[in-house]
Amino acid sequence: MKKQMRNQVMVAKSVTDEDLKLINQYTRRELTAEEVFVFETILCDNEIDRDGEAFSLASLHKFCELYPGKTGIFDHNPCGESQMARMFKAWVEHRPEQRTRYGAPYAALHGKAYMVRSGRSADLILEIDGGIKKEVSVGCSVTRKLCSICGANWKKERCSHAAGEEYGGKLCFAILDDPDDAYEWSFVAVPAQPAAGVVKAYTQKGEFQLNQIDQIVKSLDPNQGEELKAYLSALEIEAQAGRAYLAKLKKEVLSLSCLSGAKIQGDVMQSVIQKMNVQELEAFHKAFSAQLDEPGALQLAATPMQQPQGADSAFQI
Ligand SMILES: [Zn+2]
Repeated sequence: MKKQMRNQVMVAKSVTDEDLKLINQYTRRELTAEEVFVFETILCDNEIDRDGEAFSLASLHKFCELYPGKTGIFDHNPCGESQMARMFKAWVEHRPEQRTRYGAPYAALHGKAYMVRSGRSADLILEIDGGIKKEVSVGCSVTRKLCSICGANWKKERCSHAAGEEYGGKLCFAILDDPDDAYEWSFVAVPAQPAAGVVKAYTQKGEFQLNQIDQIVKSLDPNQGEELKAYLSALEIEAQAGRAYLAKLKKEVLSLSCLSGAKIQGDVMQSVIQKMNVQELEAFHKAFSAQLDEPGALQLAATPMQQPQGADSAFQI
């Protein structure tokens, strides 16, 4: 699963001796303080996110072991070598004075990462130095997703509680517990569209593709998966009806264009029709029909076709 955190500030930090020691565990040769750029960010916290899920405190502590050494990608562009940063330290910050929506003391997972200074990383380093806000997304998998009301593990069973609902004044949400892997973290400069975020949340790597829908459905909770499948098949039925209407409309416009006497070769007209959208087809349908209804329509057959009224002017014939 992927979790996106909004508006996290990446703060540039001066390189300490301890940082260098940790960083050099991951490098082929010893780097000096001048060669590296170090920054800090919040990776995730124990607040309820937009999916109605929150990491347990134990999960945040487990991430402290899992994240160091993991590379991060900027702007989801895994191609640029200079765009990579490596996490070398992670820790949990406790803010007891601040409470989560479910009343627990707030805690956040901080990460420290480094980049090697080079011509190609200069712009990015400048951005981070300027305290630019970015969205951080962390990729991880957890073995347990617990109902906050009764403790049922939603990965295995469903209970009667639903995330987002209140039961006896207590908010129900999913507690993400026992992470077994942290596979990546990344920064997104432009906030993702909420809808795109949802789709991306269920793809582990790479770009979303239509043929991944089956895999996405399989990766969901059984209940969520069923809902999505039902929704998709309802959409498919609508799409079939839409395709049938479009085919019928194209056929009729072609016949009408012949009947109205438009002096366009059949195959040219057919090729143009194939490129039209529904609104354009409907406009041509109306125009050709009106032409046929006019008195003396057969005489019109002998005159060059006029630009049908209401038709898209982009489609001049
Ligand atoms: Zn429950």
